[in-house]
Amino acid sequence: MTARLLSGKEAAAAVEAEVAERVAALAAQGKTVGLATILVGEEPASQIYVRGKHRAATRAGMRSFDHVLAAETPPADLERLIDRLNADPAVDAILLQIPLPGGLDPLPFVERLDPGKDADGLHPVNLGRLLLGRPGLRPATPAGILRLLDHYAIDTRGAFVVVVGRSFLVGRPLAVLLSLKGRDATVAVAHTATADLRGLTRQADILVAAAGRPGLIGPEHVRPGAVVIDVGINRTADGLAGDVDFAAVAEIAGAITPVPGGVGPMTIAGLLENTVAAAEARAGQ
Ligand code: NAD
Repeated sequence: MTARLLSGKEAAAAVEAEVAERVAALAAQGKTVGLATILVGEEPASQIYVRGKHRAATRAGMRSFDHVLAAETPPADLERLIDRLNADPAVDAILLQIPLPGGLDPLPFVERLDPGKDADGLHPVNLGRLLLGRPGLRPATPAGILRLLDHYAIDTRGAFVVVVGRSFLVGRPLAVLLSLKGRDATVAVAHTATADLRGLTRQADILVAAAGRPGLIGPEHVRPGAVVIDVGINRTADGLAGDVDFAAVAEIAGAITPVPGGVGPMTIAGLLENTVAAAEARAGQ
């Protein structure tokens, strides 16, 4: 492997240490930071993610409140829980783990969150602030990717970034964040209807794969020396895989994230940052 390995574990530990200091500063004023998580159903991957989020919150000195609902919970009960957590002064941020079971649309529930307690930064108010370039809680995975680039001093100013995937969770908000003043990247968003994916991705200085398709990005998609960020988490017969053919791409890329241990820990770091930011705002700071 010739590419530099961009470790999300290492970068996330640095973010966590910063968050822990901010949590301790609030604690010194008598304010305990609280994160509530809501998990609906028993999807094993979601259970693992939520457990990881609790562990990280606890490590950072936060209190975490764990709400687990049965898959068949009526939507009105989920709404009531959200309303209760919105009103609970001990809760600074709420994470609703998505996807919801049975293909239930998560957006009406995300919209019900108090935007000031929106741990994942996906409420329309926060997405609107993002589009306007105003301060707000940012989507956790895209924000985590930017922190990873910062940690490894990878400058996005003037870079051509190709983001493969246009979901509201990852691709679209990441493209907006990268194009904001200060980040100053030129961004293209590729999706299932993109005519010549390889022709486009080969031009990228920074290539972000967030399609949820194992092995979608091979060496033929990558310009030698490019930075490759693999967001994909795919469960295959051979175990966890990203969207990038890691072994082959690592031979030509300049830098690459692993799966696991790349973007995953940065998503948790983004969530912790949002949670402490929400608590600071509620404490009037
Ligand atoms: P999604 O299914 O909502 O969106 C996938 C996007 O990829 C779509 O916009 C689609 O147009 C595009 N796409 C799919 N196949 C394509 C192809 N062949 N060519 C070009 N574009 C294609 O998924 P999502 O929620 O954005 O998640 C994407 C992946 O990232 C999944 O594997 C998910 O598990 C993973 N994920 C990881 C983290 C993390 O913390 N590492 C966080 C969120 C999502």
